[in-house]
Amino acid sequence: METELSFIDSQGTTSYGTVEVLFLGTGASTGVPMIGCNCPVCSSENPYNDRTRSSILVRYAGKQILIDASPDLRSQSLKNKVNRIDAVIFTHPHADHVLGIDELRTFNYLQKEEIPIFGDPETLRVIMGMFPYAFSEENKGGLTRPRLVPNTVLGPTCVFGLTITPFLVKHGPVMNHALRMGKLVYLTDCNEVPEESMGYLEDVDTLVIGAVRYEPHASHFGVWQALELIDRIKPRKAYLTHLSHGIDHARLESELPPHVHASYDGLVISVL
Ligand SMILES: [Zn+2]
Ligand SMILES: [Zn+2]
Ligand SMILES: [Zn+2]
Repeated sequence: METELSFIDSQGTTSYGTVEVLFLGTGASTGVPMIGCNCPVCSSENPYNDRTRSSILVRYAGKQILIDASPDLRSQSLKNKVNRIDAVIFTHPHADHVLGIDELRTFNYLQKEEIPIFGDPETLRVIMGMFPYAFSEENKGGLTRPRLVPNTVLGPTCVFGLTITPFLVKHGPVMNHALRMGKLVYLTDCNEVPEESMGYLEDVDTLVIGAVRYEPHASHFGVWQALELIDRIKPRKAYLTHLSHGIDHARLESELPPHVHASYDGLVISVL
């Protein structure tokens, strides 16, 4: 599969740009530390064990695309000085991936424009049911509400010159979408990749993969299962994300092969 990123430069020629990923959040659905927990990871003084809810910002060709809107979007944006979001792509409508939608209103206000959002029909249906005011024709001015334009994704979709290809993966009792963007794959909230989706995982440079704890979970990979899949896909680099308080950053990092890393909030990587 070839890299599908291209954009037209000012001379009118097609150029290929780099794709950069900023990890805004790398935590499981409760975040780490977890409310009321005194375990060694939640009490840890290592800042790499502070994990907000999972989301990444993909930067290319001067654009910034948010993948999922975590409940921590406001603090993530402040910490990482994110002052523009050109589009949002949703993997699935679980609360830890969509509850930051209301925070998008500040970006509408700053950018003085509507923000396109992308998702499969079911994800958009749930989001529009949860945040009907973000799509209404009323009170469109000021900071009062997000102004979002829904775009239904049924297959490979070009977003500012980057082809985004969703493919189905199993997430416990429901299906979720992993996203292929050129040679970057974002595959979180998954406990099994069906054989028919494995073709999307050929020739991957950078794989971001969810692993909620060491042991397998009904809806998520465990660390060892994620490593088995990484071994099969053989990306140049892989980063584990969506990590719970069952995982200490330093311990996990010391256990991983050299091309696999534990991600952390604020990490920035380039896709080759
Ligand atoms: Zn999740
Ligand atoms: Zn804990
Ligand atoms: Zn989920």
